[in-house]
Amino acid sequence: MGVGIGMPGFIDFQKGINYTFLEIKDQTIIEYLTEEIKLPVYIDNDSSLIALAELRFGSVHHKKNVMVINIGWGVGLGLILNGELFRGHNGFAGEFSHIPIFDNNKLCECGKTGCLETETSLLVLIEKAAAGLKEGRLSSLPSNFPSDYYEQDYEAIIAAALKGDQFVVELFSESGYNIGRGIAILIHLLNPELIVLSGRGAAAGKIWEAPIQNAINKHCIPRLSSNTKIKVSTLGHDAELIGASVLVMENIEKNNTVIKNKTV
Ligand SMILES: [Zn+2]
Repeated sequence: MGVGIGMPGFIDFQKGINYTFLEIKDQTIIEYLTEEIKLPVYIDNDSSLIALAELRFGSVHHKKNVMVINIGWGVGLGLILNGELFRGHNGFAGEFSHIPIFDNNKLCECGKTGCLETETSLLVLIEKAAAGLKEGRLSSLPSNFPSDYYEQDYEAIIAAALKGDQFVVELFSESGYNIGRGIAILIHLLNPELIVLSGRGAAAGKIWEAPIQNAINKHCIPRLSSNTKIKVSTLGHDAELIGASVLVMENIEKNNTVIKNKTV
């Protein structure tokens, strides 16, 4: 029926333009792919699609104000406000990864320093694990770590965390605490009823919950945070794929409604 694609980057989903990746001369990604595949194509930001999946099939079902955190190669955010996905004026809302909260002099890929993702993304976790091993930290991580294949290294740190590897759990706790500092800002701004931890990183499960809650306890006004729950997604790695399918279905439904109304 159609093709839905989740991508990182600054995406204007209505125009079908990704301003960050895959520039195609004189054509939008949507125009190019539609011509090649001969099916309607829709693109959206990966974190927005993860939130869409949680809204239709996951932890956000029947809830109104929820922040869906996409823990992955960056730390994205999908905002569910008043029961709907909020994309902002151009579709760029939720750039959680790049809120400047550290004075760490670490250059982020966005060109700024001190962004949330410079201390919290799965890539940073892999980097920190590799640096720790070099310094002689004891860990059950495989001897070929880091393999320099992100997917393989990601699976290795998740597996080590789930086995309770002390060093890796320590890294997750540090990262979780820092994500929690960012979440404290979101709670102050938007008063959500639920925070869902989703995306690739959700595979580490409950390990995230305590450090994030700890940061919220420390940095949030209790009156604001006392009714906000934290939950790890059950959709996990599939969330983006499910969200991409929802994107196609919702657009086809919308277009059909427009055609129907025009016919009437
Ligand atoms: Zn940044």
